[in-house]
Amino acid sequence: MKIAVIGTGYVGLVTGTCLAETGNEVTCVDIVEEKVNKMRNGEMPIYEPGLDILFLRNIKQERLTFTTDLAEAIAPAKVIFLALPTPPGADGAADLSYVLGAAKDIAKLITEYKVIVTKSTVPVGTADKVTAVMKANTDVPFAVVSNPEFLREGVAVEDFMKPDRVVIGTRDEKARQVMGDLYAPYVRQGNPILYMDERSSELTKYAANSFLATKITFMNEIANMCELVGADVDMVRKGVGADARIGKRFLFPGVGYGGSCFPKDVQALSKAAEENKYDFKILNSVMEVNETQKKRLVVKMREYYGEGGLKGKHFALWGLAFKPETDDIREAPALYIIDELLAAGATVTAYDPEGMPNVKKLLGDKIGYATNRYNALEEADALLIVTEWPVFRTPDFDFMKEKLKSPVIFDGRNLYDLDRMKDHGFYYNSIGRKTVA
Ligand code: NAD
Repeated sequence: MKIAVIGTGYVGLVTGTCLAETGNEVTCVDIVEEKVNKMRNGEMPIYEPGLDILFLRNIKQERLTFTTDLAEAIAPAKVIFLALPTPPGADGAADLSYVLGAAKDIAKLITEYKVIVTKSTVPVGTADKVTAVMKANTDVPFAVVSNPEFLREGVAVEDFMKPDRVVIGTRDEKARQVMGDLYAPYVRQGNPILYMDERSSELTKYAANSFLATKITFMNEIANMCELVGADVDMVRKGVGADARIGKRFLFPGVGYGGSCFPKDVQALSKAAEENKYDFKILNSVMEVNETQKKRLVVKMREYYGEGGLKGKHFALWGLAFKPETDDIREAPALYIIDELLAAGATVTAYDPEGMPNVKKLLGDKIGYATNRYNALEEADALLIVTEWPVFRTPDFDFMKEKLKSPVIFDGRNLYDLDRMKDHGFYYNSIGRKTVA
């Protein structure tokens, strides 16, 4: 099938590449010329494990091409995917200007039936809005499909190639068939393609992300309780996770959720509720708790160093990306922690396996950047762990003690065993567990 994908970010590039991998001919469009030129030369604009192999293979075999020219991409395409940003607007609601703008441009260019698919996360009613914008600009027949994306950055290729489910929201029979054919190779193990109306499909994505954000936030609150009552959140987590109704996954407490999706999607669903005169109380609490949780490590540090005690201190920080295996730093808790520390008069040297170039663009020389995890520790009064990259899991603790000015670790991801940290002689303060002093 001939396909156009508009927008080549984390979702668009993965979608385009993975659709090419099953034999489709895909043209990806982006407005950033430099990015398109890079991709044409086989350079990946993002870090996503495993994507490079598929990306290069499909470019080489001429199933994956890139352009800045929308007309060139959509002319042959049967299906047009919109993988455009939907950032929060000033009021917290999703900004649909990218999606609706593209719909208008596409409408003006099409000369035959096309299936227009919104892959972006969009509020309920967007398919209707896209349809209206298109109808106002063309008489050519088309169908609009809501097909939300559930991939996780870091394991995006696996998630796309073997999704837990595919959600297809359309009431257009022809589009339903096309989408079913397109996705059939990805659900051969028997995972479902769920067909529904556009509105249910649009809400499914927000419901999924908001539920996950709520699950994490609930565990963060349990962790905070654990600290107050002397329980160990690792034990509690295992105890509750063993219940099949709850499940083991997504129960790890930490320094709050971040990334380009959870914060904006929770906010957008809460806003959509408000617009429908519904007070979505849980979501409002989730957002409030997460704001506090992002600064949890700094609160712990203030308690340890005393009032004004952060001033003049130097800290090493491991982990800038909002989660491991990505270079994405959008809404990363590390950025909030760095802000707080700098405002308190401390200095920071960070290390992240993939996130540093993006942070450099944002913060420049406001912080230092280390060439490896150990160099970051030089002259540091303490180490802060913010992202659970595998490389941080089994470091040489004795070497760390040599490098650090004092053997102090604030761990926002509970990477280490408490007894081991005691044996190694660290002060070790983590989330929802006893502090090793
Ligand atoms: P992104 O910011 O990484 O990428 C968007 C891309 O679109 C950029 O390359 C940008 O240059 C390009 N673009 C902007 N305007 C354009 C235009 N008019 N024509 C062509 N290209 C244009 O965004 P993303 O993370 O890929 O997210 C895209 C959508 O998918 C959002 O709605 C997001 O909520 C949703 N989503 C994201 C993820 C994720 O993990 N990142 C997962 C599921 C859903």
